[in-house]
Amino acid sequence: MNKIEHIGIAVKNLEASNDLFSKLFGKSHYKIEEVASEGVNTSFFQIGENKIELLEATKPDSPIAKFIENKGEGIHHIAFDVTDIQAEITRLKNEGFIVLNDTPKKGADNKLVAFLHPKSSNGVLIELCQEIKE
Ligand code: ZN
Repeated sequence: MNKIEHIGIAVKNLEASNDLFSKLFGKSHYKIEEVASEGVNTSFFQIGENKIELLEATKPDSPIAKFIENKGEGIHHIAFDVTDIQAEITRLKNEGFIVLNDTPKKGADNKLVAFLHPKSSNGVLIELCQEIKE
């Protein structure tokens, strides 16, 4: 893994949270993107080398809706940048981690993504992401 790519925060209302985090960071988000397959609306903030992703559910059975129901708003996942996501999936499975999707899928912000089940990583949902090069 190369570095932390972003930290994902689950929020109830993306518009209200965009305002809140804009005040916190002193700058606006640089994009809003819906990932329909995941039932989420996302926004991204660039803070120096790091990014923060806000996630809002777009439907009641979205994983974000379930997360907020169980735990409330807050840090949802940590995403790590990887060079070869398929190789990382294989490596981590061999190490005993539970990979939620063996085949990388298209995530927000021009990335291929895969998730590790939090029960295999001390309660932390881990996202692997590889930048899609055109
Ligand atoms: Zn993410």
